[in-house]
Amino acid sequence: MQTVGKDIKPQKPLPPPNSDFYQLAETLPREELATLRQVRSFMESKVAPIINKYWVEDSFPFELLPAFKDLNLGGLGMQGYGCRGGSALLTGLVAMEMARTDVSIATFFGVHTGLAMLSIYIAGSEEQKQKWLPPMARFEKIGCFGLTEPLVGSGAAGGLMTTAKKQGKTWVLNGQKKWIGNSPWCDISIIWARDVADNQVRGFIVENKTTPGFSVEKIQNKFALKVVQNGLITLKDVQLPEENHLQVGKRWRETAQVLRQTRYGVAWEATGCQMGAFEHTLKYAQERLQFGKPIGSFQLIQDLLSKMIANVTACQCLVARTGQLDDQGKLTDAQAALAKAFTTAKCRETVAWGREIFGGNGISIDYNVGRFFTDAEVLLSYEGTYQMQNLILGKAITGLSAFV
Ligand SMILES: Cc1cc2nc3c(=O)[nH]c(=O)nc-3n(C[C@H](O)[C@H](O)[C@H](O)COP(=O)(O)OP(=O)(O)OC[C@H]3O[C@@H](n4cnc5c(N)ncnc54)[C@H](O)[C@@H]3O)c2cc1C
Repeated sequence: MQTVGKDIKPQKPLPPPNSDFYQLAETLPREELATLRQVRSFMESKVAPIINKYWVEDSFPFELLPAFKDLNLGGLGMQGYGCRGGSALLTGLVAMEMARTDVSIATFFGVHTGLAMLSIYIAGSEEQKQKWLPPMARFEKIGCFGLTEPLVGSGAAGGLMTTAKKQGKTWVLNGQKKWIGNSPWCDISIIWARDVADNQVRGFIVENKTTPGFSVEKIQNKFALKVVQNGLITLKDVQLPEENHLQVGKRWRETAQVLRQTRYGVAWEATGCQMGAFEHTLKYAQERLQFGKPIGSFQLIQDLLSKMIANVTACQCLVARTGQLDDQGKLTDAQAALAKAFTTAKCRETVAWGREIFGGNGISIDYNVGRFFTDAEVLLSYEGTYQMQNLILGKAITGLSAFV
């Protein structure tokens, strides 16, 4: 597929692409390293060979779900209820490792485990956790997370238009949710709505396939994260019993707690996305010949490659420290926001340099780098845009809120 210099024999073997330049893996506990290797093997053997086909078809590889289940990662970072457990560092490393091969697969996993399951874990009652988490941990029920709306994105904290109205013992939900990952096919939605009685944001568990008034339209014509299926959810007089109302999540605080954790996860994904782009690019630069030499031997190409690995390494060190803070229960919203903003911005730079090094081939999906290039755009915007992260950070460092 690639135009390689098979006619030229290098003097000595070239180093294989290695995106762990500061040997971060060496610092990991042995058990976590073993899990990471298991995830790498899954991603390289099962996902990498088929992912471009699904990307082109704009569809989700359901054929991977049994192997996903076998990985035993459902509920990673959560204790009990059939969840995998494990440290915050491990959770981050798994997100990074998945994104190193494909950001869509990392996102599918992050939405199901990080957003949907974590919402129930953080904001659900004991009964709700007992009921919903075990089948989700076994990948028998897949979840999604509905916060964003067609007219309300960054301003979700104060301005949700989807309403929840308590009528006797029943909650009635009306509104729309846009961009919701997994929603066109999954089983359970966590829907965030504004209680008309007190304007507080409340979370609800909705069973997609059996709830009257709940419908999903697949969002078409995306040019990034194409393997993740995003939907426009419509809730029309959806009636839910109190058991489906997340019992602890009666304030925005719990929603924000979920978002802090998932922003932490996106920072790791953005690091993994750069690693994948760097490795593909370095290999290409070692093999692609122009003027009779590998393009990797040109000074200007080495400058780009050096800047790519520097970005990767800086992001790895940064997210590793956020992992330590998270494991100590000390990670703040602002620290998670800094990690998400910095890594996603660096990711955008790194993948663009990679695409550039591929020349024309960089825009062909067959060479993979284009997938990382487009997916980096979503990393910058979802789970709170770059600007929103810097507003959170700006408030923390100045003590002054710039939120309108
Ligand atoms: C592929 C994909 C998957 C997604 N998955 C999910 C999901 O599963 N669940 C879910 O709930 N949502 C999901 N989202 C939605 C995502 O979280 C939102 O797109 C994001 O929060 C931004 O909202 P918005 O698109 O409405 O942009 P807007 O809020 O309209 O922002 C537009 C621009 O204005 C800027 N801006 C807004 N307010 C300010 C301000 N006060 N100061 C400075 N700049 C500002 C923003 O930074 C941005 O650049 C997904 C989005 C995508 C693209």
